Amino acid sequence: MLDETPPMLQPAASIHRLGTESAFEVLARAQSLAAEGQDIINLGIGQPDFRTPEHIVEAGIKALRDGHHGYTPANGIPALRQAVAADLEKRHGVAVDPDHVVVQPGGKPTMFFAVLIFGEPGGEIMYPNPGFPIYESVIKYSGATPVPIALEEAKGFAFSAEAVLAQITPQTRLIIINSPANPTGGVTPKEEIDALVAGLAAHPHVAILSDEIYSQMLYDGRTHVSLLQYPEIRDRLIMLDGWSKTYAMTGWRLGYAVWPESLVDHATRLCINDHSCVNAATQFAGLAALTGPQDAVQDMVAAFDERRRIIVSELNQIAGFRCADAAGAFYAFPNIEGTGLTAREAQDRFLTEAGVATIAGTSFGVWGEGYLRLSYANSIENIRAALGRIKGCL
Ligand code: PLP
Repeated sequence: MLDETPPMLQPAASIHRLGTESAFEVLARAQSLAAEGQDIINLGIGQPDFRTPEHIVEAGIKALRDGHHGYTPANGIPALRQAVAADLEKRHGVAVDPDHVVVQPGGKPTMFFAVLIFGEPGGEIMYPNPGFPIYESVIKYSGATPVPIALEEAKGFAFSAEAVLAQITPQTRLIIINSPANPTGGVTPKEEIDALVAGLAAHPHVAILSDEIYSQMLYDGRTHVSLLQYPEIRDRLIMLDGWSKTYAMTGWRLGYAVWPESLVDHATRLCINDHSCVNAATQFAGLAALTGPQDAVQDMVAAFDERRRIIVSELNQIAGFRCADAAGAFYAFPNIEGTGLTAREAQDRFLTEAGVATIAGTSFGVWGEGYLRLSYANSIENIRAALGRIKGCL
C-alpha cells in the first residue's frame, strides 16, 4: 500500500525510508482476529495493563474544568518543568535546570527531534539493535547512516562500551542508548556506562541520547544509572524519560527530555513547528503524577516483578526456548532458535494458531532474528494460558 502512489505525485524519497513499529501492526491484526470472534491473548503491545492512578485522572479533569484549555509554552508549563527537575534530583541526585527540560507529547518526539537535529547524509548515528524500531526508522529518514550497536544475549543484552567506542568515526554525530531496554529487558551495568563515558572524552564531537523511559522498572535490587549522573557529558547529553510507562499513561501522550544548553532552543523550535505544545490538561495530569503519592508506581512494579519471574521460568520450560533473565522494563526476549522457526514464523504461527500475540525479534532490527518479544503487561492468568497455548501449538 505504501508504494501505491499515483504516478503524478512526487513524495520525497525520504518518506520511503521511514520504517514503522510492528507492535502497532500486530495489535491491529490481533484486534481484527478478536473482532472475528477468536480468543486472543495479547503479549504484543508494550503498555502497562493498569489504569492511570485516579488522582492523576482527576487532575486532568480538574484542569479542563478550571479552564486550562489553551496553548501553553511550547516547552511545557513552568510548574511541570520544575516538577520534572525536582523528580530528577530526588531519583538521580542531580541538579537540572527546569529551562533545559522540554515536555513533549510522549517519548517518541524527543528521539525524532534529536535525530532530525543531528542526522543528515554523510553523518552516522549509532543505535541499539535489537532496539526500539523507531531509532533505526528515523535515522534512515534523516539520511544519516544507521550504525547498529549489536546487543548480545550472552551479555544480558547490555551494550559493550568497548564495542560502541570502537565504532566511532569522525562522521559519528549521535549515539543512542537505552537501558532498561526494549525489547530485551536488558540493563547495562554501571561499569559499562562508566567506561563509555570515560571513552567519550576522546570524542567531543559525539552527542548522546539516553532513552531512560523504563528508569523505574528494574528488578532484583538493581538501581537505575542515569547518564545525567555524569557531569562530564552534560553539555552533549539528551536524556529522555516520561510518564507513559511509569504512570500507565501511554494514551495521554506525555514525555520529556533534558537537553544540553546548546540544543534546548533547537528542540523547542521543533516543538513550535510540529505541535505547538502538549495539550494543557495532560500536562496538569503529569504534574499530579510527579508531585502526588508514588505507591501506585511501586505496586505496579511489584506486580511486573511477580509476572516476570513466572514468564521467564515458564518460557525456559518450553522445548526450543531459552530465556535470559529479564532485568528491567516489562519484556521477556526468549531465544527460540531451538524451535526451528524464524522469529517471523513464530510470531505468525502463535497468533493465528494459538491466539497469542507476540512480536518477532526482527521487528527490532536484524540482530533480533531467533528471538521473540513477549510483554508481561498482562495478568498472570493470561500469561500462563498464553504460554500453555504456545506449548500446545509447538
Ligand atoms: N522509548 C522506548 C525504549 C520505548 O519502548 C517506548 C515505547 O514503547 C518509547 C520510548 C516511547 O514512549 P511514548 O509512548 O511515551 O512515546
